[in-house]
Amino acid sequence: MVFILVLIILLLIGVIIFLCARMRVRKFHYQYKSDKMDAMESSYESQIHSLRSTIKELNETAFTHTVTKIGNIDYFIDRCSSLFERYPRSLFTMVGFSISNMGKINQIFGPSEGDKVMIYTAGILKSSYLSSTTYAHVNSNLFGILFKDTAEKDILRAIDRITQRLAEYSPTFAVTASFGIYVIDQSRTSDSLMDIMNCTLLAQKAIQNPKHQNYAYFTEELNRTYNENRQMSQEMEEALDSHKFIVYLQPMIDLHSYRIISGEALVRWDYPGKGILSPYAFLPLFENSSLIQKLDYYMWEECCKVIRRWIDNKITPLPISMNISPIHLQGTAFIDKLEQLLKSYLISKDLIILELPERGVANASREVAEIIEKLKDHGFSLCIDNFGSVHSPLNLLKDYPIERIKLDRSFLNRNSTSDEGLTILRYLIAMAKELNLTVITEGVESMEQANFLTDIGCDIAQGYFFAKPLTVRLFDQLNKSMLRTLYRPSEYYPTFEDFEKDVDILTQMMQRVG
Ligand code: C2E
Ligand code: MG
Repeated sequence: MVFILVLIILLLIGVIIFLCARMRVRKFHYQYKSDKMDAMESSYESQIHSLRSTIKELNETAFTHTVTKIGNIDYFIDRCSSLFERYPRSLFTMVGFSISNMGKINQIFGPSEGDKVMIYTAGILKSSYLSSTTYAHVNSNLFGILFKDTAEKDILRAIDRITQRLAEYSPTFAVTASFGIYVIDQSRTSDSLMDIMNCTLLAQKAIQNPKHQNYAYFTEELNRTYNENRQMSQEMEEALDSHKFIVYLQPMIDLHSYRIISGEALVRWDYPGKGILSPYAFLPLFENSSLIQKLDYYMWEECCKVIRRWIDNKITPLPISMNISPIHLQGTAFIDKLEQLLKSYLISKDLIILELPERGVANASREVAEIIEKLKDHGFSLCIDNFGSVHSPLNLLKDYPIERIKLDRSFLNRNSTSDEGLTILRYLIAMAKELNLTVITEGVESMEQANFLTDIGCDIAQGYFFAKPLTVRLFDQLNKSMLRTLYRPSEYYPTFEDFEKDVDILTQMMQRVG
């Protein structure tokens, strides 16, 4: 009995020991598992943390402007769209502004100074006085500020404040900005943020006198122009391919003989429903796209065709001056193109003159100087066009192998009424003569101007007094009539309107011949 009792007790002790051991093992197991889980958990946590910070960093990089470290265009699109969505009844006003003299700052003080100006501008935007706004550095030289439910006077005050702070940037040079204001019509849902920014840019361009007022509003009229321009931009390439651009020639008159000695090729667009468009209506659009090169190539080829036709029809060919857009002066590809055209139309170089616009050569950079040298080596005749329109770079005349200058027409008009102006003209022409340059004056609109220019030694004149730009057919007719040394009424019939002017010209011509 006792034995059985001892056995039961031992069995119970055994069971208890077994259970305890099992529990310890379990506990150990659980402990092990929990330690392991803790470790995993903390590793996950740190991974999630680093993932979060990577995403944050990526977001920051993706939404931050690299130079100024404020929001960029993507940030702006994101932020503005969510504001528009959240506050459909609010009045939003977008102000886009650019540093007007950024190009000059970069050019004179170098790009690092340009970057500093940008960073300084971003700093102004970060200042607290711009309440109820979101802002961004949209692209290279464009900042945007979106105002929500802000009164006009407060927006103008903010513009004023930014202008003042920019002016304080440096004691040695001024930093100026132009502001375009666009009051957003939220019912026009089709406008993307970039469309809105473009409207502010358009308004900036409409600023007339930035010293007086450096902001302008986007108006419906600007909107119409913008839409027309947009449509034109879309049609330009097709119009080029379908030969809707026409060469007009404006005669250049030798002031010694009063004969046409050459013509300047000026482009016109025969635009369906609108008639013949002046280059002022579309050239800026071409210049804003790479199509300007294509247009120039087209015009140069058309000029070659005109000269070839003259030669084939036994008409004594006259040299044609062709305009070269500044963009070509960034490389030498256009020289090969010109060579190729002249070769395929069998035209000698003395039948063309290249007009290089002063704004393209005025900075006198080494690259431009090399291109001009190369043109000269190839045997092209060169003329600086619109001389005096930017800031008469007199040193250009001695540094470049140029044989002609064409005085800008505004120059003549601007100065022709004041004594001081006439003295400058006289001096310019005298100096050009010293350098053996041929001087052409553009924009001659009266007999007095023509006589004055002849007296002070100008060689060639171009202007409405002699003839407006003409179709090639009319140019040929006029050339034919003016080639005659004597006026023969039976062969030349001026219109009634032209009569008085023609008599003047012919009288002058006869005096010179006789
Ligand atoms: P530009 O080369 O200075 O051409 C002279 C401009 O002055 C022409 O304007 C001509 O019509 C105008 N003009 C000439 N005489 C008078 C005058 O007595 N009074 C007035 N008020 N104006 C006069 P247009 O034809 O409208 O051309 C404007 C500008 O467009 C040209 O200025 C030239 O820079 C550019 N352009 C014209 N055709 C071409 C082209 O085929 N290629 C390029 N790249 N530019 C062109
Ligand atoms: Mg010209």
